[in-house]
Amino acid sequence: MATQETVEHKYVYDFAEGNKDLKDLLGGKGANLAEMTNLGLPVPPGFTITTEACQAYLTTGREPDGLAGQIEAHLESLEREMGRRLGDPGDPLLVSVRSGAKFSMPGMMETVLNVGLNDRSVIGLSTQAGQNDRFAWDSYRRLIQMFGKTVCEVPGEEFEHALDEAKHAKGTRNDLDLDADDLRGLVDAYKKIFAKHTGREFPQEPREQLDLAIRAVFDSWNAERAILYRRQERIPADLGTAVNVVSMVFGNLGPDSGTGVAFTRDPGSGAQGIYGDYLANAQGEDVVAGIRNTVPLQELEQLDKRSYDELLGIMARLEEHYKDLCDIEFTIERGKLWMLQTRVGKRTAAAAFVIAGQLVDEGLIDLDEALHRVNGAQLAQLMFPRFQLDHDVPPVAKGIGASPGAASGKVVFTSARAVELAAEGESVILVRRETNPDDLNGMIAAKGILTSRGGKTSHAAVVARGMGKTCVSGADELEVNVPAKKFTVGGHTVGEGDVVSIDGTTGKVYLGEVPVMPSEVVQYFEGSLDPEHIDNPLVRAVHRIMTHADAARRLRVRTNADTGADAARARRFGAEGIGLCRTEHMFLGDRRELVERLILASDAREREDALAALLPLQRADFVEIFREMDGLPVTVRLIDPPLHEFLPPLEQLAVNVAVAQERGEDVAKEEALLSAVRRMHEENPMLGLRGVRLGLVIPGLFAMQVRAIAEAAVAVTRDGGTACPEIMVPLVGAVQELETVRAEAEKIIAEVVGDSGVEVLIGTMIEVPRAALTAGQIAEAAEFFSFGTNDLTQMAWGFSRDDVEGAFFWRYLELGIFGISPFESIDADGVGRLVRIAAEEGRAARPGLKLGVCGEHGGDPDSVHFFHGVGLDYVSCSPFRVPVARLEAGRAAVSTTGSDSR
Ligand code: PEP
Ligand code: MG
Repeated sequence: MATQETVEHKYVYDFAEGNKDLKDLLGGKGANLAEMTNLGLPVPPGFTITTEACQAYLTTGREPDGLAGQIEAHLESLEREMGRRLGDPGDPLLVSVRSGAKFSMPGMMETVLNVGLNDRSVIGLSTQAGQNDRFAWDSYRRLIQMFGKTVCEVPGEEFEHALDEAKHAKGTRNDLDLDADDLRGLVDAYKKIFAKHTGREFPQEPREQLDLAIRAVFDSWNAERAILYRRQERIPADLGTAVNVVSMVFGNLGPDSGTGVAFTRDPGSGAQGIYGDYLANAQGEDVVAGIRNTVPLQELEQLDKRSYDELLGIMARLEEHYKDLCDIEFTIERGKLWMLQTRVGKRTAAAAFVIAGQLVDEGLIDLDEALHRVNGAQLAQLMFPRFQLDHDVPPVAKGIGASPGAASGKVVFTSARAVELAAEGESVILVRRETNPDDLNGMIAAKGILTSRGGKTSHAAVVARGMGKTCVSGADELEVNVPAKKFTVGGHTVGEGDVVSIDGTTGKVYLGEVPVMPSEVVQYFEGSLDPEHIDNPLVRAVHRIMTHADAARRLRVRTNADTGADAARARRFGAEGIGLCRTEHMFLGDRRELVERLILASDAREREDALAALLPLQRADFVEIFREMDGLPVTVRLIDPPLHEFLPPLEQLAVNVAVAQERGEDVAKEEALLSAVRRMHEENPMLGLRGVRLGLVIPGLFAMQVRAIAEAAVAVTRDGGTACPEIMVPLVGAVQELETVRAEAEKIIAEVVGDSGVEVLIGTMIEVPRAALTAGQIAEAAEFFSFGTNDLTQMAWGFSRDDVEGAFFWRYLELGIFGISPFESIDADGVGRLVRIAAEEGRAARPGLKLGVCGEHGGDPDSVHFFHGVGLDYVSCSPFRVPVARLEAGRAAVSTTGSDSR
């Protein structure tokens, strides 16, 4: 019975059986090959082995029952369709074996081409290709090389070394100068390398080659670089990859053959047009690896007009079908065009906005869908500064602007050095001739990437764009010498540690550091660009999409701001109030002395004097903020951190006192301070005398702040403004704490406000788990809740927010305990559950209870979606994140439809 069930499970799909929506099962590549097949486009026939087969293999360590038989059956039908048998000595069918996960992981996993070639079928291939021995032996040596490296872990350099030797013997640097005899000799050399490293001969049996290649693709899901990439891109670890077995078509059959990669619009800027690279007489991997320099796709028109026109037609059709920018890989075999891949293409942040706007104009998508096509992380990227346009530093080289942005940093030549220096806090630029997947660590660590080879579709370009990292590729004036740790350009020699600057938009490379200027998107948000007269296509698109997000969103967006200047900036960015004004900074600087007096007060009089001196200063602070936020709510939080944080550190004070005593100086004041610091010392200050506890222990402290807030509000209102203060009590865990503070505050407010018309709300932070769990009771004494998700995360997990990220989070991330720090993005299952409980029980007890969040999570895109789902009224975040939160709140509101941008 069990056998029958497993046999019936379908693990293999012909291209004609799938479609683009089956990405989970067939991977992105397989699903899109199927879609193109069904659109009637010229796709070489083949089949896809599902991600389920891969998952089963990865969990059990062996291929699932039934898989071998299904592969056999699909192979037979492929052979029938092609009229050739795999590896047939006379007229062989050859296949490529290609990975293809649900989410694109460029260059991370394996591909083996030319499977089916052996000592006998190489002759048949030559015949097929019109007695082209050179081509046949070149294909065979490529198989041994790829198979050896991918399937059997033979070090790739050994093959490259043998190839270099063959070229050296021939007196050439170009692969194309090697003739059939040279390549036959190279096959022998490769076979010896293979045997030396594997202890066996290169497998001659085509089906064995196929099975081993499929297994190698499965295994490559767990290669170190793939794991790293997934972590970086937040791709789940258990998806597995599909495997595509595709009949081979050849781009290396002569000058009327070739291969290329193209985008239907510019993935850098979003501009309409045809963008791509073409390489005549080459196989696909040559383009992506940036091994030989490609020509712009437009030149194909001269080389092969028929294929070029057909390609343009197909690209237009794909865009209309997918309603998005597509990227494609194609091969031309003797004048016949074949589509090898398509997908919705990766793009820069700027291109994402511009293209979404264009597609609306073209009537392909609506504004809701446009909102899905962009995200907050992209918007944040567009708010980074760029190089000043009018700086007078001349560039030393110009490559391809492969991933925009501006980056300056110290030059490093290896991934390891990039990681080392970045860990020391240095900005580094990773310089390579070309990057390969092993450079991933260094690319993550670097501020920017600079290569001397490769086009817009090289590994460096694709990966950098995916990461949003500045990259200049193909700067071929650079002579990069990695072993000597230097490059030369225009008579300059640049060594490790020298500073260079790269512009990923223009492709320009500068020696030294270049001044930067703010982004146009920021200028637009700041209000210095008139939205009605914008000719910059990016700013126009941002304006249009933001306007739609604002109209769609239900969540309000406030800001965390403690000064008038921050409040003003955030307001220009669209903040609809202040969600958290921390008052502790108001106790710093020259006010420290007053705080010291407060702490050292030996009786009520001294304490009251200190508080009375602080009152007008605080009032002035609040007046400034209320003025900036005229008409909008301002949540002021009463002082939270332990008071000893405002005193000098214990060690420093102890030394000062000892030194002063030694000199015979008067140290009475310092001694008093020292003993206060000793008295107030806590082992766990985060769980100690802070927040509401402080207010309950130090008489008059909260009262002074409440009075300052109320008086400031009255003053602003009397001046014709509208102040809407909300007083927030921190660290409450029990309703009794809040009730006590509230009773005192209400008296003061009533006395100060009188008939001024000012209304002051009193509420609390929910940041102690007990507060979340007793929210029904706490709501009786609170007009609003604001979730302090920083402390709530700290206390729910028991993680010290100041220590753990450096101490052990790397291990937790490695083990997949969480995919991202819970301090960065809300832990929906745990901390999020506390938020949900508190929101529900709070609202049940007090309908209309105002709910917001003011922890760091308020500006994190995923968290904003969560808070939308829980039904909060607003999120509050730092001024610079306000536009991001507005956009994400809009996206969350329309998220029931459309294809979310990752
Ligand atoms: C919080 O805990 O989330 C919060 C906003 O307060 P603070 O970060 O000041 O502790
Ligand atoms: Mg807090």
